[in-house]
Amino acid sequence: MCIFCDIVNGRISKEFVYQDEDIAAFYDINPQALVHILIIPKKHIASLNELTESDKNLMGNIIVTAKKLAEQHKISVNGYKIVANCGHDGGQVVDHIHFHLLGGEPLR
Ligand code: AMP
Ligand code: ZN
Repeated sequence: MCIFCDIVNGRISKEFVYQDEDIAAFYDINPQALVHILIIPKKHIASLNELTESDKNLMGNIIVTAKKLAEQHKISVNGYKIVANCGHDGGQVVDHIHFHLLGGEPLR
């Protein structure tokens, strides 16, 4: 099965830094920056390639949540990145769409 679905449904125990009915956010297990949070939809969408028109609100929710989490983690003023890797060439490893929120230090 999908590791991020397992996190959403509680089969893998994980502390959420945010969740609502549709999305969840948690710290990346292998952080690439001082702040590294993953934000995911609770429903399984494999990648950006599988998005449809009906996912527009869901994606908006994720981006606005990233902005709020950046504020809460006090990285807004200095700045941050939101990254979504897609497919093999994009470096996507986990096939459940996710957005990386990275900050807390200067990023390459
Ligand atoms: P990507 O290369 O965009 O698919 O990134 C997948 C990310 O998921 C990587 O940054 C991993 O460190 C992270 N990751 C994988 N498994 C877990 C887990 N169980 N909990 C938190 N983060 C994870
Ligand atoms: Zn999944």
